Amino acid sequence: MRQLLTLLTLLMLSFSLFSCQKEQEPSAKSKELVVYTSRKEHLIKDIFKAYEEKTGVKISYRTGDAGALIQALKAEGHNTTADLFMTVDAGNLWYAKSQGLFQSVDSQKLKGAIPPHLRDPEDQWFALSVRARTIAFNPENVKEDELKSYEDLATKKWKGRLCLRTSKKVYNQSLVAMLIHELGEEKAKEVVAGWVDNVVEIFSNDTAVLKAIAVGQCDVGIVNTYYYGRLIKEDPKLPLKLFWPNQESYGVHINISGAGILKHSKNPKEAKKFLEWLASEEAQKSFAQVNMEYPVDPEAPQDELVESWGEFKPNTSFNLSKAGVLQKKALKLMHEVDYK
Ligand code: FE
Repeated sequence: MRQLLTLLTLLMLSFSLFSCQKEQEPSAKSKELVVYTSRKEHLIKDIFKAYEEKTGVKISYRTGDAGALIQALKAEGHNTTADLFMTVDAGNLWYAKSQGLFQSVDSQKLKGAIPPHLRDPEDQWFALSVRARTIAFNPENVKEDELKSYEDLATKKWKGRLCLRTSKKVYNQSLVAMLIHELGEEKAKEVVAGWVDNVVEIFSNDTAVLKAIAVGQCDVGIVNTYYYGRLIKEDPKLPLKLFWPNQESYGVHINISGAGILKHSKNPKEAKKFLEWLASEEAQKSFAQVNMEYPVDPEAPQDELVESWGEFKPNTSFNLSKAGVLQKKALKLMHEVDYK
């Protein structure tokens, strides 16, 4: 009987030890990061999955409009479960920073992979891909040597030939912010007024601008290159080409997609590792390629179609952290010249 009791006690002991171990296991496995992002799910899903498979860290995400996500993060405060905020346009990252949402990240890896003009001077956000906002034209109606610069699109020769996207889009606010930085407010205003004078129609998105150029409704427009890439992939015969403006002056306007670690992240160490991985060559390959953007690390390989558009001089004198500051001025200026 005594033996039986001892056996039972032993059994119970080992069972409780076992269950104790089982209880501990989830915490070792429960490494999880939560990303709030305005990027479309199909652009991030695979890259997040790749990180999960490599490290076992689960990446959950919530997608939505950048402004709405920023408001949600503010409302959640330190109760948030989010660790990172990822979005497009330096203006959005600047705004998130101005609302006190990020923390500074001290990382040599991030500094090594990302040039200074593509990250926050206080290391609160980092670019993860680069997009160029350039001139698209219809080669049936425009000779390439007719094109020169953003400023040139304001001259009389383009009257009734230019299509634009709305000034409400942050992409154009950042572009005009760069013009203000490069040319000064007065000259930038003249340029934008010239565009408005020349414009045929103002569209709600870049794809509509490109389609209008392709059907000959207008001859030139200003777009982000990946929208061009998407259309050309669908129909390589479309009469559309890209032109790199301002190659003898300040270069092509670039913007970014990027991310930062949230001030109230519960896993800042894991979040930092993830951010460093996103900037690494391994991740950069697909992160930029999936949307036909440019990798943030100039050494990382490019998408084939993107490579075929040729090299260009990007604008690097405009630190994108200034986009946010100058966007207000840009908006006011566009309003004053009646750019809808
Ligand atoms: Fe876009």
